[in-house]
Amino acid sequence: MLDKPPSPYRIFTDRDVVDHLADLPEARERLGGAPRDWRVRDVADGNLNAVFLVDGPDGGVCVKQALPYVRVAGESWPLDVNRASFEAAYTARLAPHVKGLAPKLHHYDPGRFVLVMEKLEPHVILRKGLIAGERFPDAVRHVAEYVAQAAFHTSDLAVPFETKAADVALFAQNRALQRITVDLVFTDPYVEVWRNKVAPPLEPWAAALRADVALKTRVAELRLRYLTHAQSLLHGDLHSGSVMATPDDTRVIDGEFAWVGPTGFDVGDFLAHLVMAWYAKPFHGGAPEAIVRYRDALAGDVATFWLTFRRRFLEIWRDAEAAGDGLPPAHFADPAGRARLETFRQSYVDAIFRDAVGYCAIKIVRRIVGFAQIADFLVIEDVGRRAEAQGGALALSRALLKRPEAFADIADLVAALPAFEGAGLDPKRAPQ
Ligand code: ADP
Ligand code: MG
Repeated sequence: MLDKPPSPYRIFTDRDVVDHLADLPEARERLGGAPRDWRVRDVADGNLNAVFLVDGPDGGVCVKQALPYVRVAGESWPLDVNRASFEAAYTARLAPHVKGLAPKLHHYDPGRFVLVMEKLEPHVILRKGLIAGERFPDAVRHVAEYVAQAAFHTSDLAVPFETKAADVALFAQNRALQRITVDLVFTDPYVEVWRNKVAPPLEPWAAALRADVALKTRVAELRLRYLTHAQSLLHGDLHSGSVMATPDDTRVIDGEFAWVGPTGFDVGDFLAHLVMAWYAKPFHGGAPEAIVRYRDALAGDVATFWLTFRRRFLEIWRDAEAAGDGLPPAHFADPAGRARLETFRQSYVDAIFRDAVGYCAIKIVRRIVGFAQIADFLVIEDVGRRAEAQGGALALSRALLKRPEAFADIADLVAALPAFEGAGLDPKRAPQ
């Protein structure tokens, strides 16, 4: 009997990173020099994976390897390494549409679960930039463009159903990470479970969420829609930590949660993190006038992100030549049909907005009472002060879930931000 060959997978050391790249002609060329000239930096700061930046005399690359467990939790929380293959497939699937808005994927090794991609430097993680009070004037417009391109070109509006079915079949295999979304985003925040991290001052809020049947009914609608409404290929984790930016360049990274679902999920996710940045800002210090200015800019970003997405999605749709099986243009060819089609387009994006409002709320709730919390709030050292910031965001989220009809437009959402600020730690006294 033949011995089974050793699995090529092992957790990479710096040395393994260099050996791996030495075998890849494209990487060798990009780095230049000889492998002994290459310098490796471990830059992992996300929740799940190992990430290295490698520099050679001519240039650099980024190497990302899926670990067999959740990096921030350790080996006690195993996680399928094959998630890397979905990140690779997602990146390749979208590359023709999002072009320079994502890092270029140079190589994927399906045995070692390693991606080699374009190194983004001097880009910073958008979340860190926002916390530091920096401005990235084009970032939200670029992310909106990315989401609009991805959402249209992977939907039944753009592709034959055979293409769509292949995407659904492929990304339906991304089950380990969908389990995380189903549990951490949609389930845990509304029950008591070990993974939740509820700060003591927020216990009344967590209890109020668990007890609120009307709110949980809306959450149930949104989770069912996430599971059943295969509208377009989603990034699945589009928060401000999945965007890297310089003042004039923006890239969306980390598509390992890819899934075919409701377009509003990605839109709402990104909105949620801008909204949380708005609630956190006054607690990061700085001069009062500077805080007001920065928050106004963030509120502007909330509106700009949605309005850019909406405008670009409609433009891409109107300009699209090839049509998907979802809507044959021949059915709307005469003047009356064309007018009707335009109304149809408007209602299609209005429905995305309704979804986005709901998913925005759900993402805020999971970041405050769930497992994976965010630096925007965690950098506020005083837990009581941090809870004040979070209480406002939770109060807004409750309203978004329970009175969605009051948020028909992005202007309604922006106008509501200050109304819930200072909602405090008592959910009974907070505005509803
Ligand atoms: P995780 O899946 O663990 O969240 P990410 O893909 O978010 O990992 O990457 C973790 C960190 O690695 C990012 O926050 C960023 O600092 C860095 N990083 C990721 N991709 C690149 C890249 N292409 N170029 C430069 N740095 C990157
Ligand atoms: Mg990730």
